[in-house]
Order: sequence, then C-alpha cells, then structure tokens
Amino acid sequence: TQTPSPLLEVEDVAIRFGGLQALDAVSFDVRRGEILALIGPNGAGKSTLLNVISGTLRPDRGRVRFKGEDVTGLPDHEINARGLARTFQAAEILAGLTVRENVMAAGVRGARSGFAAGLIGLGWKTGNAADLPGLAARHLEAVGLASMADASASQLTAGQQRLLAVARALASGAELLYLDEPGAGLNGAEKDMLAEAILNIRGRGITVVFVEHDLAFVGKLAERIVVLHHGRVLARGEAAEVRADPRVVAAYLGN
Ligand code: ADP
Ligand code: MG
Repeated sequence: TQTPSPLLEVEDVAIRFGGLQALDAVSFDVRRGEILALIGPNGAGKSTLLNVISGTLRPDRGRVRFKGEDVTGLPDHEINARGLARTFQAAEILAGLTVRENVMAAGVRGARSGFAAGLIGLGWKTGNAADLPGLAARHLEAVGLASMADASASQLTAGQQRLLAVARALASGAELLYLDEPGAGLNGAEKDMLAEAILNIRGRGITVVFVEHDLAFVGKLAERIVVLHHGRVLARGEAAEVRADPRVVAAYLGN
C-alpha cells in the first residue's frame, strides 16, 4: 500500500535575521485532512515559519512543497491562490459589510478555484457565480455564525470576528488553513466555539495547521504536534506523545 503524499512538506528550512538564526533545519509534513498544532515558547520562530510557508518570507535554505509542488519563495498571493490560506491574529474584516457579504467577497476569488464549492457538493461550474450566497451560508454554518449572517460585521465580538475570518478563508477556496494564534485574546466560551469551528472545517476535508500557546486548547484539537524551540524542531509526532515528552515540558516551564 502507498502512503498518500503529504499536503504540505517543509524540508530543512533555515532563515537568519542579522545575527539571529530564527529557523534552523526545520522539517515536518502536514497530512491531508489532519489538524496539526505548532507550539513553542515566545520567540521560538512559529510566526516566522508561517511567514516562510505562506510566502511572506523567503528562506535562506530549504524547501516548502504544497500539493507536491515546490512553492518556496513564491509570492504570497500565488501560494494563496493554490489553496493555502492564513488568517492573522488581527482578523481582516470589512466592517462596512454584513457578515454574509464579508464571506461572499472572499468567495468571489474562491469560486475561481472551485474547490470550496466542490467540497460541499454544490456542483459549481466555472462562470456561474449565482451560488455565492448559498456557499457563504454553508461556510457561516461551518463556523457557527449562521444566525449572524445579516448583522453588520462591525457588530461582531472579537471571538465572532475570528470565526468570520475563518469563514472567509474557507470561502477563498482554502484547502489548508493556517491559523496564527486563533485563540489569542478570546474567552473560554469563544475558544470553545472556535474549537468547534475548526473541527467542523476538518470534517469538510480542510486541513488545519494552527499556532497556539494554550496547551489545553491544543489538546482538544491537535492530532499531531510540532514543537519549535529556538528555531529548531524540539519534538514532533502524535499529540499525546509530544505533550508527555520531558523536553517539551521543560521548554514550557521556561528553560
Ligand atoms: P514566535 O512566533 O514563535 O513567538 P517569531 O517567529 O515571531 O516567534 O520570532 C522568532 C525570532 O525571530 C524572535 O527572536 C524574533 O524577535 C525574531 N524576528 C522575527 N521576525 C523578525 C524580523 N523581521 N527581523 C528580525 N528579527 C525577527
Ligand atoms: Mg508568533
């Protein structure tokens, strides 16, 4: 039997900022349909790694492959168009539009890829943009925001804005969602909603990589974990195994 090829492959990535080796020999794979957490103390290089993967930064060394194709150093919009979407800590919301319109606006581009539509079985065909409202409704349902569809985006709480950013990423045709500290600044109830949204999304065939400090949140969601420490992979593997690793525990206690 053949192992399916990973959706994302990071191979021996290194990048230096002046005298600081921010990433060194970083390698890991992301499998199709999994939820993978990237954890590590502040300054470990998590956001830098995300910037390399998403095309915002070009690594000094190493390769990034997405769907088997080398995307190292491609501009971020190009990588995004191939189906890798990131949401930032500060959600990008169009405050003057309704929640539904926000998702539809993101969907105008996603419709071109057809992936988002194909995933939920609507049989979308090139040239037919009429299903955008229907698609938006499905995406809002996936993240638990269906009841807010007609509200102004500016009325959303911080937690709901985070969910809307995820819905927008879905609408853009993302096959892999890369979330940098999606739970930051959210309260317990909001984090629970976010966790549920992430599980729903995975249920629709989307692969999710997220950066997170909160180990309880990580434990609820991640099937596998990659731990960065001082720019290197300290541990990686099945979630339970990694969380029990003494080196990981030590890194989290601030050594
Ligand atoms: P994390 O997201 O894990 O907290 P970062 O990836 O943001 O860590 O940062 C890793 C290290 O690289 C930190 O020491 C940070 O100060 C440094 N760094 C990040 N971006 C830059 C940059 N553009 N220029 C110089 N140093 C940077
Ligand atoms: Mg960071």
